[in-house]
Amino acid sequence: MKPLHPLEQEPLPPIDRMDFITVRLPFVHAFGTSVQTWTNKEALLLRVASGSEVAWGECVADPDPYYAYETTQTARHIIKDFLLPVVEQSRTLGDLLVAFRHVRGHGMAKATVENALIVLMAQRHGVALHTLLGYPARKIMSGISIGLRETPDELLDAVHAAVQKRYHRVKMKIKKGKDVEWVARVRDRFADVRLMVDANGGYTLDDTDHLKKLDAFDLMMIEQPLSYSDIVQHATLQKQMRTPLCLDESILTVDDARAAIDLGACRILNIKQGRVGGLLESIRMAALAAERGIEVWSGGMDETGIGRALNIHLQTAPSFTLPGDTSETSNYFHEDIADPPVVLDENGFIAIPTGPGLGITLDPHRLERYTIAREHIR
Ligand SMILES: [Mg+2]
Repeated sequence: MKPLHPLEQEPLPPIDRMDFITVRLPFVHAFGTSVQTWTNKEALLLRVASGSEVAWGECVADPDPYYAYETTQTARHIIKDFLLPVVEQSRTLGDLLVAFRHVRGHGMAKATVENALIVLMAQRHGVALHTLLGYPARKIMSGISIGLRETPDELLDAVHAAVQKRYHRVKMKIKKGKDVEWVARVRDRFADVRLMVDANGGYTLDDTDHLKKLDAFDLMMIEQPLSYSDIVQHATLQKQMRTPLCLDESILTVDDARAAIDLGACRILNIKQGRVGGLLESIRMAALAAERGIEVWSGGMDETGIGRALNIHLQTAPSFTLPGDTSETSNYFHEDIADPPVVLDENGFIAIPTGPGLGITLDPHRLERYTIAREHIR
């Protein structure tokens, strides 16, 4: 049995009303990966009202199944028809999480509900989310994820801008035809930048000799080079490469993480709280990784200010030792639905938003402007 987080014994707060609100925010730059290019962020939000408090959960699923099998539509279905009925029958957060296990998979849907309830609990206690989770405030390291660009010069410009901003690490997306030579160009111009690449599963073991060329560039890691559903072949590849491999898409549960660590499939884990089913599963996974000498960082799903703030609070957990995908709001959106926007200080760090819960407020006008659908659930 997994050890309980103290929060799991807390009674669930009473819920007066729940609504889905779907927003669509245009990106400043189209975000290209080896599998898909997105020009805007569509997010399913869960609004939970309890007395005078309103808390928000953001589902990290995309409207399409190109990063993960879950979509905003599958999440709506799973939340409404299978997860929310359980909320009403659960006494504590722990009861709820046990009942959620009856639903197989759908971590993004589960995380939406769990996270909204935990944020609501923090608000009702009048404390910041990180305090409720048990972690003191600390500044968070920043990291930027640069999508695929049309030309190497455009990529170099983007890396230059990130270095000027003092991001603690730069991630560039790669795919076949935009990999070794593009990395060489970046490394040639930015010898000291902490650099990593993310392939989003774009290669196979047939590409091993090609991928091994990346060992020449002193990368922090190569993220998810092989299939989204594989662990074993990553172990085969890791044995042949000096550069640490990091798994993202392949890791949906703590059991996946344990399998990957046992097999030597990676030396680093990207923990996206949405992908793994919420805050508490993320904390468990990070603790397992720390026990086994595996470093972790918090991945991003280009979230609005709601999910972005949640990821910042999660990274106060001491086992998040590497810079994550948390970057400035302006890197993604001309305007966001939440205030304050995430900004970097002069040394590239990000401050924890202060105040109860996430420490953010939603601007009603901007929320209205970007809302494309709403649904009263109960
Ligand atoms: Mg990734």
